[in-house]
Amino acid sequence: MTPVTVFSGKTLALFGLGGSGLATALALKAGGSHVIACDDNPAKMAEAASKGIETGDLRGLDWSKVSALILSPGVPLTHPEPHWSAKLAKEAGVEIIGDIELFCRERAKIAPNSEFIAITGTNGKSTTTALIAHMMREAGWDVQMGGNIGTAILSLEPPAPGRIHVIECSSFQIDLAPSLAPSVGILLNISPDHIDRHGTMENYAAIKERLIAKADWSLVGVEDPYSEAIHKRALEREARAKASGKPIGRQYAVSVEHGVEAGISLKGEMIHMLAYPGQERDIGNLNGISTLRGLHNAQNACFAAGVADIYEIWHDDPDVIQRALNTFPGLPHRMEEVGRRGETLFINDSKATNADSTEKALKSFDNILWILGGKAKEGGIEPLKEYFPKIRKAYLIGAATEDFAKTLGSDVPYVRSGTLDKAVEQAAADAAAMNGPSVVLLSPACASYDQFANYEVRGNAFRDLVRALPGIEAKGA
Ligand code: ADP
Repeated sequence: MTPVTVFSGKTLALFGLGGSGLATALALKAGGSHVIACDDNPAKMAEAASKGIETGDLRGLDWSKVSALILSPGVPLTHPEPHWSAKLAKEAGVEIIGDIELFCRERAKIAPNSEFIAITGTNGKSTTTALIAHMMREAGWDVQMGGNIGTAILSLEPPAPGRIHVIECSSFQIDLAPSLAPSVGILLNISPDHIDRHGTMENYAAIKERLIAKADWSLVGVEDPYSEAIHKRALEREARAKASGKPIGRQYAVSVEHGVEAGISLKGEMIHMLAYPGQERDIGNLNGISTLRGLHNAQNACFAAGVADIYEIWHDDPDVIQRALNTFPGLPHRMEEVGRRGETLFINDSKATNADSTEKALKSFDNILWILGGKAKEGGIEPLKEYFPKIRKAYLIGAATEDFAKTLGSDVPYVRSGTLDKAVEQAAADAAAMNGPSVVLLSPACASYDQFANYEVRGNAFRDLVRALPGIEAKGA
């Protein structure tokens, strides 16, 4: 845990007692502040109370005695409208911050020069965060990974010399962290998402920009116009800092589509680093790495290798970046290879809950036996039509069955499997009867909640079903 001492002796209100809210309350208490915690869910209040946290209704507070409102990232700060606790704090002139901000202030107090890598973007955050953590571990660093992935930031060990925090940040978390100033800031990409919570696309992009705006070094993916403009401003900041005699780290561009003037790009399957004109080299090869299939994962790998290069982890160990790429286990439910039988691969891509994500998987494979369906998103699978020639057969499950059957029409043979177990059984049998390589792919393009609690439960069910097939060679954990 990272005890937060910056509010020691002060009274704080906290709303939202999910996993990170509870961890935050405990870290504040351990650091000597007086926390009054609240949640709409009485069970969460009871859980916090059982852990020694004082709970109460924040509506009855004397806000003139409150130093800050600590808000969970899941609670609306501004849109569609501020949560009632945020309104009360604003009326009383009390600042509203989140757990990442508390970490930043504590780091500034106890270990300002400790290494802190922050990662954001619309897509690819978790994969990139996990890959950076894996690389830095391979290089012998004491890595603390968390934030929006896995462990809440304040449940990690405190910042310290020789230790590196690798932290995934959602836009909600950045919105609650005004003094975010990581050693390395990473912005992967920006596309429309969560606009209901941020009002406009411009506001969403501006929040994402804050993660790199005060970073020492930054890496920005320049594939979309918002990120490109943000990178341009980062370069202007670098030039201003240089001119003022207080240079900051480099502000690098990352692209998998074209070359860059300074930063990381992809040349075939090689990750290519260009620090200054004339100073360039390949720093990693993605050929044959099954856990990083697809151009989107190549982009994630470029960012991770770029970070590794900034830290010069190759200095005493020239093969370390390549070794880390080769040994990256990948994340579950994202094009996860769960088994193999003869020439058939079984892939769990349960995290693909919309057409955009499923597109990445369809692009990455051929001869696909596609298991899809669930609770459909707007637009369904219409945007995926160009990939239909890659599909040998589709197996429809869940509420979207009839809609998807209509879209597949006569272009793709399909069956109405109904449930996942039936779909796996049918797809595995068809694969066995086929000649040559094939891929049984669960990439549903749908939310799971018509048949499963969440995408993880759905993916785990798929993995178990595949591993129960006769003659299967299981992969992964
Ligand atoms: P996040 O944490 O941002 O949700 P993940 O790493 O969990 O991202 O990946 C979720 C899905 O997003 C993947 O299954 C894939 O479909 C897509 N994805 C991953 N990386 C990228 C990327 N760099 N660009 C676009 N889409 C990506």
